[in-house]
Amino acid sequence: MTEDERRGIINQQQRSRKRKRGKRHRRKQQVAGDSPPPSLEQTLNANTKNRSSPAAAVVKCNSKARIASSSFLDKMKAKLSGGHFRMINEKLYTCTGQEAFNYFKEDPALFNMYHAGYQEQMSHWPEQPVNVITKWLKDHSPSLIVADFGCGDACLARNVKNKVFSLDLISKDSSVIACDMSNTPLDSSSVDVAVFCLSLMGTNYSSFIQEAHRVLKPRGWLLIAEVKSRFDPSTGGADPNKFSKAICQLGFTALSKDFSNKMFILLYFKKKEDEKLNVNEIKWPGLKPCLYKRR
Ligand code: SAH
Repeated sequence: MTEDERRGIINQQQRSRKRKRGKRHRRKQQVAGDSPPPSLEQTLNANTKNRSSPAAAVVKCNSKARIASSSFLDKMKAKLSGGHFRMINEKLYTCTGQEAFNYFKEDPALFNMYHAGYQEQMSHWPEQPVNVITKWLKDHSPSLIVADFGCGDACLARNVKNKVFSLDLISKDSSVIACDMSNTPLDSSSVDVAVFCLSLMGTNYSSFIQEAHRVLKPRGWLLIAEVKSRFDPSTGGADPNKFSKAICQLGFTALSKDFSNKMFILLYFKKKEDEKLNVNEIKWPGLKPCLYKRR
């Protein structure tokens, strides 16, 4: 072996050792947290940005890889939006109606994010409470005027002949009145049916029911559909009898209740005529937040 060849081999060995050292160093840095692995969001952004890079072009031309890559992206995006949904959902259950109103007002895109996640969660329910209420309305006179408190995408109004005042924190279309439902622009004693379908979210939920009492005509109906687990005392939920009693003290008569559905309960009340209220004495049970599981 010539001197030059020997030097060549030594240089090669040194280069290889240097490469290995570099790799080890980078790995150590990640473990130590100096350079944390990219977040899900960063990975997604990077993947989206890199689509036009030469490496991504290979993926683009290979349909199998492209399907795998896009389903990976879809899964990751779904995870991210699921996370956002759960965060917004928790916020709505742990703040007042007014705070929720300001929260969405500052960033209305959060409302769409919330509703995309909400629809996804509801798609796993065997029956939608809004459909049960729709059917109830169809079985009664179409001349009844309805106020849908926390209407979401105003599905109820779209599916009945009645005049419906759809109320929510954000107005996705012109038919929806944007407001905090503890303070609506509706006239006193102007509606026949007040509906709360999975919408008693704020910590001040009693003021939503008080507002319904104000806008309802005497002998008007109050229909409440709520998540069943919120009324299961064995898991920290409210006692449905105490909840019902508080509503009756506000000036309603309990008509019927339906606990037959696995996911939600339905309570039907009628507003009493000429009831003298002592609102401050009512003991409203706390309603625990409904936190959705990761899927
Ligand atoms: N009732 C609809 C949507 C239920 S989701 C359905 O059954 O499909 C609950 C809705 O209540 C959300 O759209 C949320 O924005 C609304 N909401 C919660 N708190 C509110 C408040 N304080 N004022 C008005 N709407 C409220």
